[in-house]
Amino acid sequence: MGAVLETSGLTRNFGAIMAVDDVSFELRSGELLALIGPNGAGKSTCFNMLMGQLKPTKGRVKLGGEDITGLSPRQVWRKGVGRTFQITSTYSSMTVVENVQMSLLSHHGEILRFLPYATRQYREEALSLLALVNMADQADRHCAVLAYGDLKRMELAIALAHDPKVLLMDEPTAGMAPKERVALMKLTADIVRRKGVSVLFTEHDMDVVFAHSHRIMVLNRGALIAEGTAEDIRNNTTVREVYLGGGTIFADQGGAAHA
Ligand code: ADP
Ligand code: MG
Repeated sequence: MGAVLETSGLTRNFGAIMAVDDVSFELRSGELLALIGPNGAGKSTCFNMLMGQLKPTKGRVKLGGEDITGLSPRQVWRKGVGRTFQITSTYSSMTVVENVQMSLLSHHGEILRFLPYATRQYREEALSLLALVNMADQADRHCAVLAYGDLKRMELAIALAHDPKVLLMDEPTAGMAPKERVALMKLTADIVRRKGVSVLFTEHDMDVVFAHSHRIMVLNRGALIAEGTAEDIRNNTTVREVYLGGGTIFADQGGAAHA
C-alpha cells in the first residue's frame, strides 16, 4: 500500500505550548488509521493542519506526493481531502436526498445559483450514495427530523459526494450512544473497503478503535509515541503508562491481556 497522505516533521506551537511536535506519519491507500491520545494530546491541531485550517510552524504535508502545506481549507478540499461531521454544512430545511444533491452540485462546480433545480439534478447519484450509508429509505425526510446518528450518516454521504481520496474524521462519533458508534465505524470501514477511500480518524472509545482500525497511532503531548496494530498498541508499555493516569483506554479489556 502506498502513502496517500504523508506528513514530515509536522509541528505547531501556540506560544509555549507545543501542540504538535515533529509528527511524521503516512496514511496508506485504503487504510482506516486511528489517531488516539489523551485530551490535549494535539489530535485536533494535527487534523486542522491536514485540512488547511491551521498553518504548521514547521513540517510538510503531502497528498499523493504533492506538497499541500499551507493551502487553504478550500484548496485542500478541492484536491480530494474530505472531512465529515460539520453540522453547519447541512441545510435543515431540505430533505436528506436534497442535501446530498447540493453536495454533488457543488462538487461538479454547479453551485448554489442552481438551488431551485437541485431537486432534479443528481438525484439518482445522491440516492446511490444514501444507499451506501444505509439511508436510502430516509431520502425524502427532512433533515430537521432526523435522529442524531442518521444525521451523521447523511453527513458521511455528503462528504462522499465529493469523491474524496482521503477522509478526515475528528471524533466522528462524539455525542453518539455506544451502539451507534459501533454502527458508524462499521459503516465507515465498509465504505473504506468498497470505495477505496483512506480514512484518518480520532475516537475516544477504545472498543471502536481496536475493533475497526487497520493501524493505530498514539499521540501524547504533541509527539507520536507509538504506532502499530491493535495488539501492538494494547501491549505497548509506554502507551499503557500514558493512559493509566487518564484511566480509560484499556477499560474494555477485562484484564485478559495483561493482568
Ligand atoms: P486534542 O484534540 O488531542 O484534545 P488539541 O489539538 O485540541 O488536542 O490541543 C493540543 C494542545 O494545544 C492543548 O494544550 C490545547 O490547549 C492547545 N491548543 C489547541 N488549540 C489552541 C489554540 N487555538 N490556542 C492556544 N492553544 C491551543
Ligand atoms: Mg480534539
